Amino acid sequence: MRQTAKTCCECDKKLVKDEVALCQKLLGIDTEDLYCIDCLSAYLECEKEDLEVKIQEFKEQGCTLFL
Ligand SMILES: [Zn+2]
Repeated sequence: MRQTAKTCCECDKKLVKDEVALCQKLLGIDTEDLYCIDCLSAYLECEKEDLEVKIQEFKEQGCTLFL
């Protein structure tokens, strides 16, 4: 299976692994809608900093999506 680069569904920015994992964690593993951290914070109406904290928390919990 070919791996395609994932991009933000709002702004087309290329996504880093943490952003993809965060979307899957918050929106569901099968979500088609992947957002960069800027668009995700707008979509969820929260601060970008809150999402960065969340990424750290999920990593500390050992969430496999972030490995
Ligand atoms: Zn975006």
